[in-house]
Amino acid sequence: MLAGAEIERVYRILSQEMPGRTPGAKGPKGQPDAFRSCISCMLSAQSLDRNTAKASRALFALATTPEAMLELDDRDIAAAIKPCGLYNNKTRSIRRFCETLLAEHGGVVPDTREGLMSLPGIGRKCADIVLSFTFGKDVIAVDTHVHRVCNRIGLTDARTADKTAEQLENRSPAWALADGHFWLIQFGKRICTSRSPKCEACPVSDWCEYYAEEVA
Ligand code: SF4
Repeated sequence: MLAGAEIERVYRILSQEMPGRTPGAKGPKGQPDAFRSCISCMLSAQSLDRNTAKASRALFALATTPEAMLELDDRDIAAAIKPCGLYNNKTRSIRRFCETLLAEHGGVVPDTREGLMSLPGIGRKCADIVLSFTFGKDVIAVDTHVHRVCNRIGLTDARTADKTAEQLENRSPAWALADGHFWLIQFGKRICTSRSPKCEACPVSDWCEYYAEEVA
């Protein structure tokens, strides 16, 4: 794994080369409140971004609060969220989430990772997305792109996205936490792609462990 000064350097370069927080996010990252962000995050499991956005729009046209959501028939929820797949399981999760939110938090989404992860259907990634995008906290949410990029470069050495998130939080400089998610995700989409990463055009190849071992 990279050490302190190298990590700092990689983040500096990514911050200069990649866009930061950009407006117009859809799905869980573009919701106006924490409740909708949590629900949209649950819908995003194994779903393409555009399908998550479509399902979120259809569901929130029917209900935008836990009380209103529980008033809906399961068949109506399932029909609305059909575009994002696994709609029967996701319908059950939404119902459990709303029931617990009302019973244990008075319907108010908690603004801590621990509180969020105590809710049914909310794992580390969803919790960190809500913390970052709704509550404005300095947290690097780790999705598949961030996980891949961090472990290729050597910012982390982890087999799961949750472990990557844990290590990133401990190893990243404080100044990089607010926008690190955006630099890493854009870098993963544009350059360090899943298949055939563009290593020859990569601005951090000098520090990349994958490059040193597999390409150079
Ligand atoms: S050198 Fe290649 S594998 Fe390493 S970070 Fe750059 S694009 Fe990704």
